Amino acid sequence: MTATLDQARDLPLDAHVHTDLSPDSLVPIDVYAALAVELGIAELAITDHVDFDPRDPAFEYTSFEERERSVRQAAERWADRGLAIRFGAELTYNTSWDADLRDHLARYRYDFTIGSVHDWPGSPYVRSRIPRWIEGRGLDEIVGPYFEQVAAAARTGLFDTIGHFDVVKRYLQPYVMPAQLAAQPDIYEAALRAIVESGTGLEINTSGLRHSVGETYPPAAVVERFRELGGVRVTAGSDAHRSDWLAWGLAEGYRILARAEFSDLTFRRGGAPVAIPLPERFALA
Ligand SMILES: [Zn+2]
Ligand SMILES: [Zn+2]
Repeated sequence: MTATLDQARDLPLDAHVHTDLSPDSLVPIDVYAALAVELGIAELAITDHVDFDPRDPAFEYTSFEERERSVRQAAERWADRGLAIRFGAELTYNTSWDADLRDHLARYRYDFTIGSVHDWPGSPYVRSRIPRWIEGRGLDEIVGPYFEQVAAAARTGLFDTIGHFDVVKRYLQPYVMPAQLAAQPDIYEAALRAIVESGTGLEINTSGLRHSVGETYPPAAVVERFRELGGVRVTAGSDAHRSDWLAWGLAEGYRILARAEFSDLTFRRGGAPVAIPLPERFALA
């Protein structure tokens, strides 16, 4: 049962990767591509940040055209070495910029879209505000505004998958620990149902395994609950911002999906939905 926590080898897909076209990464796309070939990762989705709040560092950090050119040209350079590179984006969702985001996605086409909620400006999850925010509140109230945004993101129907479903647990540490959240699973229910009902995918994001939370976003129990509720679409990504984070912990992510009885990752290639079978070695894991 011990997790294999290293850069995974021989996997069909890492569906969450940031290059130097994100403000929080310095890694050129070809560095990831060379590493993916070396590790035997068959396909990468490049998902640089797209943000809509002018206060966010990713706001207009690059243009759509620049990101598309970078990824499409790399895809051509690497195709004959057996690596597929898809043009995706991680779009930060918030109801306050819902219209701008809809406008962006109406204008531009991606192979693959991740909708993520982060600690938006003015939110209770900005580090300095957390001690006051949690005082006298129950866990459901503490995480409420975050999961309301996640549910709203899912209900737009605009995203292939919801990114790092419960990353709020990272913001709340050390005031609220992951085990406390896990002990009250009803806090996830409404957002999970919104994801299922909208037909959106759930990402298993393995970056939490290298963060102090020490578990995936979301953890295994939440993936299982998603399945019970009728969820059918899942993706898996390392959320790499450094080359040594590419595919990091990703085998554990695949294993959690297999244990929850998912047999495929769902993904889009050039707009067409595809199912990518989990490698057979996870079937008995
Ligand atoms: Zn994110
Ligand atoms: Zn990310």
